[in-house]
Amino acid sequence: MIPLVVVGAAGRMGRAIAEAASGSPDVTLRACVDRAVPTGSEPGGPAWGTDLGAVARPGDVVIEFSSAEGAVAAARLCAERGLPLVSGTTALDPGQEAAVREAAARVPIVRAANFSLGVLALKQALDAVLGPLAGWDVEIIERHHRGKADAPSGTALDLARRAREARGWGEETLRHGRHGKGGPRNDAEIGMHALRGGTWIGDHTVVLAGRGEWIELRHVAQDRGAFAHGVLTAARFISSVAAPGFYTLNDVVRAAATTSTV
Ligand code: NAD
Repeated sequence: MIPLVVVGAAGRMGRAIAEAASGSPDVTLRACVDRAVPTGSEPGGPAWGTDLGAVARPGDVVIEFSSAEGAVAAARLCAERGLPLVSGTTALDPGQEAAVREAAARVPIVRAANFSLGVLALKQALDAVLGPLAGWDVEIIERHHRGKADAPSGTALDLARRAREARGWGEETLRHGRHGKGGPRNDAEIGMHALRGGTWIGDHTVVLAGRGEWIELRHVAQDRGAFAHGVLTAARFISSVAAPGFYTLNDVVRAAATTSTV
């Protein structure tokens, strides 16, 4: 049984992970951490606290979906205590990303901007078509719920990075939305369109447009269980990895495929 401590447990992802864990016999939600502890926690349920340092124990796997500061604090605490970490908060600035990577020199950390296994497949499909469709225009459209703090999503930026790198373009080629008389589209340009509204969980479309034809590659997350499933797969992987290091969802899936546990 793998004991989990979830940081950001009162949030949307924290609750989805708790639900997925309750249906998985090989993991147990041992403790919940959130800076806003909800009132009326269930008796006999996991312990709740505001301070990861106060609740974490040796042998725990820490899962973090909170905020950029929460991600850095959890990574530092895990490095100090020798605890493996699964980290999913998006929109860390370069200094914060560097702080998490620094912690990965001391403990194993899986970090991904999107824990959906379907999104991983979308990225692989995009990589496969970018070569043959070298001259085609690329536009990325993403939709998320009205409460999402960052735009474009980390996943949309990762999809754009793949397209940019395949074409040898820099970050300045991203064009966020269009309005006014901007003239015709540049060849070296990737249009980024972030829709916000309602309760969309996560929806990413990459449009590749040629002359008289186009392709759309689209992934839709119908509920947060899509991410939670990948998170628990990552938690199982990281609990069995002894070596400190920075691991991706690709590493998780590669290892899980050999044991048919994806
Ligand atoms: P949310 O606002 O619903 O929940 C975040 C929770 O974290 C809140 O309850 C908040 O009180 C708590 N929190 C914030 N900072 C904290 C800290 N320093 N210490 C303790 N608790 C803290 O947000 P959400 O929708 O659950 O998303 C959380 C993060 O995960 C966002 O960055 C989001 O973009 C990201 N996300 C990632 C994936 C993925 O697959 N990687 C999927 C969905 C969301």
